[in-house]
Amino acid sequence: MSDSDTLALHGGRPVRERMLPYGRQEVDEADIQAVVEVLRGDWLTNGPTVARFEQAFAEVVGARFAVAFSSGTAALHGAAYATGIGPGDEVITSPLTFLASANCILYCGGRPVFADVDSETLNLDPAAVEAALTPQTKVILPIHFAGLPCDMEVIHAIARSRNLTVIEDAAHALGARIGDRPVGGLSHLTTFSFHPVKHITTGEGGMVTTNEQALAERLRRFRNHGIDREVRQRQTTWIQDMVSFGFNYRLSDIHSALGLSQLRRLDARLKRREEIAGRYHQAFAAMPEVTAAPTRRRTRHAWHIYPLRLNQDRLHQDREAIFQALRAENIGVSVHYRPVHLHPYYRERLGTGRGMCPAAEAAADRLLTLPLFPGMTDDDVADVISALGKVIRWARK
Ligand SMILES: *Cc1c(COP(=O)(O)O)cnc(C)c1O
Repeated sequence: MSDSDTLALHGGRPVRERMLPYGRQEVDEADIQAVVEVLRGDWLTNGPTVARFEQAFAEVVGARFAVAFSSGTAALHGAAYATGIGPGDEVITSPLTFLASANCILYCGGRPVFADVDSETLNLDPAAVEAALTPQTKVILPIHFAGLPCDMEVIHAIARSRNLTVIEDAAHALGARIGDRPVGGLSHLTTFSFHPVKHITTGEGGMVTTNEQALAERLRRFRNHGIDREVRQRQTTWIQDMVSFGFNYRLSDIHSALGLSQLRRLDARLKRREEIAGRYHQAFAAMPEVTAAPTRRRTRHAWHIYPLRLNQDRLHQDREAIFQALRAENIGVSVHYRPVHLHPYYRERLGTGRGMCPAAEAAADRLLTLPLFPGMTDDDVADVISALGKVIRWARK
């Protein structure tokens, strides 16, 4: 064994000196200037920059309306509320997602029903969705895992046949397309997140898009205490009527300025993500110990993350050992996700557990998220590939 083959875990030299995170924001001078301008102006919140951001965002994703929220989670809460989910209602969703996708159903008193994923695409399996339908089903809430669009045609067909509403959690999928149609204008409601690891960031922030004016109006009220008119529309009267339930889930003009400025570079960022994923794909397609991330023809993948799967039958080390070995090489791998139905809260309160979604559980046990963000250099990408090769040479049978 040559010196460079000794794992950092065993005292060898790490592939790189500094930890490479799995995701990272990109903020340029123009972004900073845009925020500074708002700070010097009259409106820190409830001002015109929010509306400009919403309008620009709606155009990018091909939706009639976009309503900004203070986080992606608040956006999901808004979408769940707008569909009228309440006690007794069931919402079919994926277990292989961030907790917020299912938590928003609990916020409204509804019951999340986890349908299994397709073991290849890792997105909701339409057959599992059909099998999970009951007379209580009200909404289907798919998520585009890693940025790979779900088969929305099939999901919409199921929804139409039962008169169900569809909420897409597109936190991974800003910029994704199905054919030439961007994710964002396809379903009743679509939600996005602007957390720093996502495609564009506002620090914290989120958006709901819809083509239906009535839904957009419900969303606007919900994020503003249930009050029927917002400050700018109110300047000639002091009257405020709370007409529905609501929170303060507003996004400020400061955040919106950052988001609006970040949108300018969305295309360039998506291209860079695609390029990096392409390199990974090339490197891993020839490695029998791993399975490269899935793609679909006639769709544009938004590549929020790169989910690699370990082929355990060819490895004598488990995912945890491989994870630790890569971390020691200073490759900031992560795991997305521990399935929602296996979290203690869900097990205890909803009686969920292992065996309910075998494909999601099996995938979750072998998934490894590799670093992927637009600011990665070609050298960073090469480091990830070389560290993975090094660790797999040690871990393989
Ligand atoms: C990031 C994310 C969210 C939540 O977004 P926040 O802005 O962090 O609240 C929801 N769903 C999925 C799938 C996510 O990845």
